[in-house]
Amino acid sequence: MNSFNQLNFTNSFASLPETFYSHVTPSLLKNSHLVAFNNTAASLLDLDNDDQNRESLLPFLSGERVQKDSKPIAMLYSGHQFGGYSPQLGDGRAMMLGEVTNKSGEKWELQLKGSGQTPYSRGADGRAVLRSTIREYLCSEAMHALGIPTTRALSITGSDEEVYRESIEKGAMLLRMAPSHVRFGSFEIFYHRQQYQEIQTLANYIIEHHYPQLLDITEPNERYLALFEAVMTRTARMISQWQQVGFSHGVMNTDNMSILGLTLDYGPYGFMDEYDAGYICNHSDTYGRYAFDQQPKIGKWNLGRLAQAMLPLFDETPKIAAEKVNALLPKYDEIFQQHYLNGMRAKLGLTDAHDDDESIIDELLEMMQQSHVDFTNLFRSLSQFDPHDLENNHLLRDQFVDRERFDLWAKFYALRIVTEARDKSERKLSMEKVNPKYVLRNHLVQRAIELAEAGDYTEIHRLHEILNHPFSEQTLPSYYATPPPEESERIVVSCSS
Ligand code: AMP
Ligand code: MG
Repeated sequence: MNSFNQLNFTNSFASLPETFYSHVTPSLLKNSHLVAFNNTAASLLDLDNDDQNRESLLPFLSGERVQKDSKPIAMLYSGHQFGGYSPQLGDGRAMMLGEVTNKSGEKWELQLKGSGQTPYSRGADGRAVLRSTIREYLCSEAMHALGIPTTRALSITGSDEEVYRESIEKGAMLLRMAPSHVRFGSFEIFYHRQQYQEIQTLANYIIEHHYPQLLDITEPNERYLALFEAVMTRTARMISQWQQVGFSHGVMNTDNMSILGLTLDYGPYGFMDEYDAGYICNHSDTYGRYAFDQQPKIGKWNLGRLAQAMLPLFDETPKIAAEKVNALLPKYDEIFQQHYLNGMRAKLGLTDAHDDDESIIDELLEMMQQSHVDFTNLFRSLSQFDPHDLENNHLLRDQFVDRERFDLWAKFYALRIVTEARDKSERKLSMEKVNPKYVLRNHLVQRAIELAEAGDYTEIHRLHEILNHPFSEQTLPSYYATPPPEESERIVVSCSS
């Protein structure tokens, strides 16, 4: 076990040429204090977690003391934002402090978000507000507990620093962790600048550090193709998992797409309450480009941008390379569909694959949409479904306006369950392991934010604790597992954070 100042920092990304990043120094916030510290994430770094040690962590978590051998950098990238190419983005308010290797040999990059301006800030202040750090902290940990690949969050530091958004808010910093923060946009920038050698350097770096199994492929064209396929596979799987829990990312720009298939950059995301296929969680997304049901398609579009940026890697005519890479893209749909159907079958408590699975799922979702049924709770309650006596399902049935339609569906569903002849309690148990009872509904995080802004951080800790066990029945007020009261307004979240 280590205290923070004993952590051994390295920075493999900083050993790449300086075209990939800029050296930076965190700039401090006024009166920093610890708001939240995540013991689970700390254990990934083999950190001590006693309280005394926590206070001694503050200088590190607030950017005040930079570790020996830490070489803070801001990474360069570009990206397609809402479909249009932005030629230069980069970490405008994040600084990678370095990487720590734990005793299992896992490497974690530590990144401070909200630590001040960098050469990529484009005139903005380089800050994050308390509200947005709480949203990222809670959601990344909630996603992890749901089994969805994501960046992690180690801590939030708050401050008295005034930060100007739509109103004056308090500045804060998040310390987040991931094996790598490289994005699709990290490749795109060099493609669009025609710096093809850099694309190769970056691809080789990613393969060596994050996809080492690909080093066995000796033929370079094959190896790069396999890299693209690996990223595609992880991305398809991650998005299929989002769809299974009703999560919308909100800003699926290519600069927010992780090369490791991690959920990255939590901005105006949302877990839906009532099911709405067209749910748009981002107030700024006027045309619904990133609506819930668009996410799978956008994932593929983003992979198309990555594919394009990787073309110069191939030692073939651009046309042949493009044909080869593009030939892989249709596989995305297959991989997505396979993960999605397997996952949704598990949510329905079904084990065998049938041709009509998709129609059972789609019909249920359509009925839910028609009747404004709560996504999370409906799936959770399906484990109570009685396939032998359909009359017993009135609690479920009563949630739907078109009862005849429900009855038809229920008959069909019951038949599937009965055919599989799985023990009832076994089915229930397996369903409860994949249908969460607790997700980070917007009104829950909003209340934690409002309390925190008034100086009370207890709700952050409470939500974190609850969401660490999303599949367990917990003795809690029903508030934590229900949609907001109808009279409360739908919370809209914008990009400004
Ligand atoms: P995001 O929408 O948070 O993914 O951010 C898009 C780009 O804007 C990234 O390059 C961010 O680093 C940058 N950015 C967002 N907010 C700020 C800020 N307050 N100061 C500097 N850069 C920012
Ligand atoms: Mg971003």
